Amino acid sequence: MSTVLVSGATGFIAQHIIKQLLEKKYKVIGTVRTDAKGQHLTKNFNNPNFLYVLVSNLATPGGFDEVFQQHPEIEYFLHTASPFTLSDDNVEENLLKPALAGTKEALTSAHAYGKNLKKLVVTSSYAAMGWTYLVDKSIPDDVYIDEASWTDIPWDVAAKSDGLTAYIASKAHAEREVWNFKERETPNFDLAVVNPTYVYGPQAFDSDVTEHMGETSEIINRIIKLQPGETPHRDRGLCIDVRDVAGAHIIAMERDECTDKRLLLFNAAFSEQNFLDLVHKFYPEQFKNVPIGDPKTTQATLTKTFWGDIHNEKTREILKQDWYSHEKSVKDILEQIIRVRGL
Ligand code: NDP
Repeated sequence: MSTVLVSGATGFIAQHIIKQLLEKKYKVIGTVRTDAKGQHLTKNFNNPNFLYVLVSNLATPGGFDEVFQQHPEIEYFLHTASPFTLSDDNVEENLLKPALAGTKEALTSAHAYGKNLKKLVVTSSYAAMGWTYLVDKSIPDDVYIDEASWTDIPWDVAAKSDGLTAYIASKAHAEREVWNFKERETPNFDLAVVNPTYVYGPQAFDSDVTEHMGETSEIINRIIKLQPGETPHRDRGLCIDVRDVAGAHIIAMERDECTDKRLLLFNAAFSEQNFLDLVHKFYPEQFKNVPIGDPKTTQATLTKTFWGDIHNEKTREILKQDWYSHEKSVKDILEQIIRVRGL
């Protein structure tokens, strides 16, 4: 039975990864920031093959040393932890520094002490690929984005900007560190990177359906709380189901053809109007007070979801995953919320 270390085990994506790893009979060690969080996860996973360790701050030098020293059996490391907030508050300290330092520390500890480590998979983001024009708004007509594309937002620009720009830059700078580390240190283990767009889908456990949820889950949560007369925000983008993102991490870990790859994950486009349409299509009774918005505009809101012409054919060819349909993902999210809130 192989052992997998998963950083940020409390995360929306990480919990699905761990669930799938346990189903596949891996032994999982998850890092968490507090005992209370670790105990909560232990109760939810309810599986003797899951255990947690404390890594209270991603940026602490040598933060992952002890777990590798105490668990030389670790063969795979999925580094998902990274600050994910779009708050404008002190973005250099709260976003940029911990994202970069966390990735550096994960790589450094793995290199120094991961005696049996075969592969390290890092959760990056589409943010690291296609957002250069966020700062310089002069967008060329012919932007083409694929697995080779990079977001280029200098650190000092990001450090003085809003939360969204800083989050995006944090992912790009952290991922650059992965590939620079490989060049510099030639570690004994393999590397792969997963770059999802917006990740959505049901929570791994009903107990995570809370009043306010993580950044992306909150988009639908906010929509179903709209009052008559209120209009949806303008959030839109490309998206992928969390269960497929979790599966892609495991494929990236298991298969040699994913080594040294950046796996760009998206399967559909969404807009808030599109979510409203699906809310009323699947559960008209439960959400009868939610406004319908302007369904005539749905197609237009979906057409231009991100800048540029975006391609992930190479990723699809490598992963060969059967991804959840967009409608199924949205239906499953709503179904879980209805069940938990007794709507
Ligand atoms: P969550 O916010 O649910 O999970 C983030 C995880 O990182 C949590 O376990 C959190 O711990 C941990 N973490 C954050 N900051 C620190 C820190 N300073 N020290 C220690 N641990 C920390 O986010 P997601 O599951 O959505 O995201 C997971 C990864 O996927 C991130 O790297 C994110 O950038 C990336 N991603 C997410 C996308 C999405 O749409 N959701 C899209 C593309 C990429 P705690 O619970 O204690 O706060």
